[in-house]
Amino acid sequence: MKIAIIGGGASGFFAAITAAENHFGSSVTIFEKAPVTLAKVRISGGGRCNLTNGCESLNEFSAAYPRGGRAMKRLLQEFGNNKTIEWFESRGVPLVMQDDGCLFPESQNSESIIDCLHRECYRLNIKIKTQAGVAEINPQTSGSLVLSFVNPELNPETFDKVIVTTGGSPKKRGLEWLEKLGHKIEEPVPSLFSLNLPTDEITSLMGIVAEKTTVSLPGTKIKAQGALLITHWGMSGPAILKLSSFGARIMNEKGYNFTISVNWIDISNEESVKEHIKEIIKTSPGKLLNSVRPFDVPARLWNHLVSKCEFQSNVRWGDIGSKGVTKITTILTADSYWVNGKSSYKDEFVTCGGISLDSVNIKTLESKAVKNLYFAGELLDIDAITGGYNLQCAWTTGFVSGLLRD
Ligand SMILES: Cc1cc2nc3c(=O)[nH]c(=O)nc-3n(C[C@H](O)[C@H](O)[C@H](O)COP(=O)(O)OP(=O)(O)OC[C@H]3O[C@@H](n4cnc5c(N)ncnc54)[C@H](O)[C@@H]3O)c2cc1C
Repeated sequence: MKIAIIGGGASGFFAAITAAENHFGSSVTIFEKAPVTLAKVRISGGGRCNLTNGCESLNEFSAAYPRGGRAMKRLLQEFGNNKTIEWFESRGVPLVMQDDGCLFPESQNSESIIDCLHRECYRLNIKIKTQAGVAEINPQTSGSLVLSFVNPELNPETFDKVIVTTGGSPKKRGLEWLEKLGHKIEEPVPSLFSLNLPTDEITSLMGIVAEKTTVSLPGTKIKAQGALLITHWGMSGPAILKLSSFGARIMNEKGYNFTISVNWIDISNEESVKEHIKEIIKTSPGKLLNSVRPFDVPARLWNHLVSKCEFQSNVRWGDIGSKGVTKITTILTADSYWVNGKSSYKDEFVTCGGISLDSVNIKTLESKAVKNLYFAGELLDIDAITGGYNLQCAWTTGFVSGLLRD
């Protein structure tokens, strides 16, 4: 068999290696449009490559994918995080897991992953052609597929099987060559970004982290928990990135102008918050509001919240009355901020959207429109929150597509 892989990223390499291992005697070629392969793997995880997550529950693992979670639940059973760990460790790349479940190569260097993938290609005689961008796929009545290239010096080539692993395309236009073959495209929009609050005074608290928060989009069911980092441009950190992932599409529809609600203490039961505040009033009635922090809210953040409540200066806990208790409860559990714009998070961003899962057979990842054509990786309408889940999608879908099952 002559097998072509279009795209030399994580999913392309995994598809190529799986195809070569499972279809002995086949010729496998990776076509990459850039001068180098695996560029994203190199910069992933800040150059350390967070290649998967140690989460052991299949339900929890698949819940990390706001798009494609159901498909991933099925696909992960074929090639999940444990198989990824075994795959790399048995090929000489020891891995370590952080306390938060993120897995990295022990070397803390993405080059270990890149070297391993290249070594496997060499061992399996996989050809890698760089500066070979594919412009078009022409299906033949015989079932074979002819690839033509962007570079006019490269002659069209015929293959028996083709796996497309070209990654996320920021614009729908970049997917037209696949759309015209009969595939449905889900509009691509960015995911995993931080939020801009350009005029909000909270940005003066840059660098402060509230460890346990819940952030939500009022009027929707979209919410996320985790640490929140205040930056000089707005808000970031795990809770915000997760919210941007769950709300990627709706935030795009709103032109990145919307309100978010922040629960600074991650306690949704307002009554228990009120009880805690009443307890402070009972034990410290003569103390200034600023001097006793409920729920250990970071000091500068607490001062900010107190001034946002517009209490008179020098107000003491004993003077706030029941209206004051309600005000403080609301600011702690449902503080609201107007978002105006987004910024790319420094370590990780992905595309939500791409080839619709309606257009592929989820068991094989073969196209429903074109026989012998398969898809894998971020090109598919699958994406996840941070934590190694996006690369796991590349390994999982690369593996399943590389089996080249009918
Ligand atoms: C800065 C950053 C850090 C990240 N860190 C992490 C992390 O630590 N953990 C994690 O899980 N995820 C991380 N991600 C996400 C993760 O890297 C991607 O989801 C994953 O690499 C996608 O792999 P892929 O093979 O599907 O696509 P890509 O890696 O994008 O590879 C696609 C390849 O196809 C090539 N190509 C495109 N079009 C053509 C064409 N027409 N012909 C030939 N070649 C073509 C591209 O040049 C590219 O090399 C990060 C992303 C970014 C941007």
